[in-house]
Amino acid sequence: MKINISKILRCEGIKESFDIIDNNQYELVFNNQSFKTLPPLSVRGYAVNYEGKIEVEYEASAKVEIQCSRCIENYVADVSASSIHTFVKEGFQTDEDQQIYISNEIDLTDIVLSEIAAELPMKPLCTTDCKGLCPDCGTNNNQRSCGCKTEEIDSRLQVLQKLLQDKQGGV
Ligand SMILES: [Zn+2]
Ligand SMILES: [Zn+2]
Repeated sequence: MKINISKILRCEGIKESFDIIDNNQYELVFNNQSFKTLPPLSVRGYAVNYEGKIEVEYEASAKVEIQCSRCIENYVADVSASSIHTFVKEGFQTDEDQQIYISNEIDLTDIVLSEIAAELPMKPLCTTDCKGLCPDCGTNNNQRSCGCKTEEIDSRLQVLQKLLQDKQGGV
């Protein structure tokens, strides 16, 4: 995920767009877990020379293999990230928020991968209505219904029911 900036370095104010398709597979680390990306990963945006600093705005989208938190099956999630960064030549850093470029090239790989990792869902679900595993026999109820008679009462629902009963009783 490298951008050649030799042209925009020559003249202030020059803005150049980029559109990168990266066919490598990457490993993302998030919450001490590792996730694999499924190529291609796309990164597009622009770079502009602003008072000798290079401002880069990008938008990236990746497919990431994630395990569903309910049925523990792997599925592929679309994850995107976007941000703006300022790059300065190596040795000219004046601010710790600034990124560094070496010679005529900006390498976005580390930034894009860490920002995509930060966008991974905390409670991943393969589908919004994933039925999950049966608490009794462990069957994946998305694939087949096991027939166990499990009373599925959501604890939040129970609280709500109790509140409603109390309210009705109090009137
Ligand atoms: Zn699931
Ligand atoms: Zn069951």
